[in-house]
Amino acid sequence: MINARWVRTGSTLHPVEVVEVEVWWGRPSQQLPWHADLLDATERRRRAAFRRPADQARFTVATAVLKLAAGQRLGLAADRVTIDRTCADCGRPHGRPRLPGHDLAASISHSGDRVLVGLTGGAPVGVDVEEISRVDPDELAGHVLGTGEAAPTRPEFFCYWTRKEAVVKATGDGLRMPLSEVVVTPPGEPPRLLRYGDRAELATCLADLDGGDGYAAAVAVLGAGPLRVHRRDATALLTP
Ligand SMILES: [Zn+2]
Repeated sequence: MINARWVRTGSTLHPVEVVEVEVWWGRPSQQLPWHADLLDATERRRRAAFRRPADQARFTVATAVLKLAAGQRLGLAADRVTIDRTCADCGRPHGRPRLPGHDLAASISHSGDRVLVGLTGGAPVGVDVEEISRVDPDELAGHVLGTGEAAPTRPEFFCYWTRKEAVVKATGDGLRMPLSEVVVTPPGEPPRLLRYGDRAELATCLADLDGGDGYAAAVAVLGAGPLRVHRRDATALLTP
């Protein structure tokens, strides 16, 4: 069947319904002094508020990756990319990242030795990475798993958790949406959103990401899809 509607990305043509997402992977240990120069005054205050150097490194590298990746896409120097994190609930700078004035949507996640940034051409996106060894699933199962969902092993639990967390970050609901009310396909089945609270149908594309040994990760993008995930290594951005 010939689809008459196509869209050009770079030199390739795609049917219009394809949802494209770039997922950038970095590591806190890749932090270099010049990355901090990319932070604006609000981001510097936020960085300083983290007591532990490891948390400062995760925040700094994640911010640098987003600014460098968005700058590359926009043809702008990274220090000219502004991230607005104003929280819709309280006004403090810890909300979902927005790039004012640009048709880009972004999401940031970090855990352990991983920094993950998702970037789309405007479709709301959520990414989540979790270090599998970091928390005890038994303590969180009641918050994460819904009726009929079971995760006997840690990798299965973290698969559920990252799929659901990616979805609530894509919708922008975050903590307002109980993860137990977000129903996704079980680990081992292709990732798909089945129900979102009382909404049986919310057009959302979902994919598991390979975070390497000891990590689970997922990306969600609002839209009918299909989803095309472009995996990117941030090393070249962070170490020119
Ligand atoms: Zn807030």
